[in-house]
Amino acid sequence: MTTGLEKKSRVLSGMRPTGRLHIGHYFGALQNWVRLQNDPAYDCFYFIADWHALTSDYADTSGVAENTLQIMIDYLAAGLDPAKSVIFQQSAVPEHAELHLLLSMVTPLGELERVPTLKFASLKLKEAPLEVSNRVAQRLGLETRSEKKMPFQFLDIEVAAYRRSKAIGHKNFLDEMKEDAGFFKVSSVLTEPQVMLTKTPRIPGLDGRKMSKSYGNAITLSESDADIRAKTKVMVTDPARKRRTDPGNPDVCPVYDWHKLFSAEEPGRLEWVRQGCTTAGIGCIECKAAMAENLIKWIAPVRERRVKWENDPKGVLEILDAGSKRARVVAQGTMERVREAVFGWGKKRKEIGGSAAKV
Ligand code: SF4
Repeated sequence: MTTGLEKKSRVLSGMRPTGRLHIGHYFGALQNWVRLQNDPAYDCFYFIADWHALTSDYADTSGVAENTLQIMIDYLAAGLDPAKSVIFQQSAVPEHAELHLLLSMVTPLGELERVPTLKFASLKLKEAPLEVSNRVAQRLGLETRSEKKMPFQFLDIEVAAYRRSKAIGHKNFLDEMKEDAGFFKVSSVLTEPQVMLTKTPRIPGLDGRKMSKSYGNAITLSESDADIRAKTKVMVTDPARKRRTDPGNPDVCPVYDWHKLFSAEEPGRLEWVRQGCTTAGIGCIECKAAMAENLIKWIAPVRERRVKWENDPKGVLEILDAGSKRARVVAQGTMERVREAVFGWGKKRKEIGGSAAKV
């Protein structure tokens, strides 16, 4: 039995405003976000990572503001409720940048290079993060330590911890840093995050690869019926099913993956696909058409809510601003604890006995 006084778990997640959200975002994250906001065990914070948008859109930032607005509309259309979740804009909470600065002081490059997301990004950039960092360091007029392959002027303490974690193959450098960098006591000042995966962490795109705007293989949450029908018509299928008379295997077909998402509630539809596909009783064209109609049924209410918010951009921004204010209050509390842990000014002022006023 719950008393209602249990401490809630904090959920924090966000997306970069680099374009419209698609059904991959919905099933990969948004669906779970909506579920969590309706679960009294969680305290949910969802943000639009406009600072992070600069990791790819740094050369042309003209779309970031509009994309931020559109993603907020997507969030609301997908079912995020500002009465249940705090929805905010990252750059409206400058405490994030301050915490980032402090964390970056104790993050050796070697650890960053092992982060899969960064590796992937660097592959896309076709150059190593080290080279990028070196260039940034040069731009800032910082000396590089090329012989140690550490582009920034790391503190000696960090170099030592970095070397040790390399030598012993330490999994979590934070553990290693705790001893040396006393201020970084993760457990007492900050909470170590845990991962929460969705049931459908990844859905294939129209071409069978991971759904991504940059691959042009996505169905956005604002896609029209006509575009859904046209795009799904040319969707890839089981490659072994070359002719209409060839039996297929739905388990290797992206169309069947989508049927599982959109047709599961239609009685008998999944069995119809499996039976028809494996016996060549149905053709891929009719199979895709049936899936497209269910996708349209699923997307219609999302799109309807989207249109409602599109017509009220002022209202959308008011919700975002109010959420950002709420998030900032929480972030300010966190940063007070972090600052005290890092610099200990509160303690120092007490020792001196002077004014407790902050500078
Ligand atoms: S019949 Fe359907 S499930 Fe089978 S290969 Fe064609 S599109 Fe895929």
